[in-house]
Amino acid sequence: MKNKHKQFAVIGLGRFGTSVASALYKLGYEVLAVDADEERVQKFSEEVTHVVQADTTDENSLKALGIRNFDVVVVAIGEDVQANVLTTLLLKDLGVKHIVAKARNELHGKMLTKIGADRVVYPERDMGQRVAHNLVSTNVLEYIELSPDLSIVEITSPRTLIGQSLAEANLRAKYEVNVVAIKRDEEVIVPPQPNEKIKDGDVLIFVGQTKGIQKLEELE
Ligand code: ADP
Repeated sequence: MKNKHKQFAVIGLGRFGTSVASALYKLGYEVLAVDADEERVQKFSEEVTHVVQADTTDENSLKALGIRNFDVVVVAIGEDVQANVLTTLLLKDLGVKHIVAKARNELHGKMLTKIGADRVVYPERDMGQRVAHNLVSTNVLEYIELSPDLSIVEITSPRTLIGQSLAEANLRAKYEVNVVAIKRDEEVIVPPQPNEKIKDGDVLIFVGQTKGIQKLEELE
């Protein structure tokens, strides 16, 4: 069960930070939003539980926020890499339990992991990849890269596969992918059996080698 008493703090109210903070608040969690910019703080004051103006690269300001008491702190400072890294470092020093930090690129991400961020996210890269896969194939609904070699993809069943059972389609041998679920209207079939026939309008969820997934995306 979800713990609605979990408290979140989001630092940096740019596009990513505001979207994370609002989403958590709408899900029913307590959310503290922090930004150095007074104007941004004012604008966001109605959207979450508390909004505070503070420079989080200042240790005393962070302490004053009682940041240690939050279960998860999201560092959503984007452009200013130095402020992003320094904030993450201070949060770690102060003993914050779970730090999620936004990275601009791989190197920045590595640095955040070294410092002790528990989770590093790459919103721009992830969204870029999703849009790219969706542009290549209109069948692609969702794309998530798990590692450079491994991805999960959600595809509207290509015409060539309709009417075949999973065993007949033999996707594991052909593309090195596994169908982990089929979404059919309101129903989700997990895991689908080998004799399950692919129907028109089915949404197939695959996990597998990125190379194989790319070939699958090209099916009409
Ligand atoms: P995005 O790319 O998600 O839109 P931005 O980099 O534009 O993110 O926004 C980051 C936010 O972080 C800005 O509102 C900025 O005022 C805030 N910010 C930058 N440095 C600090 C800091 N030291 N302390 C608190 N907030 C900061």
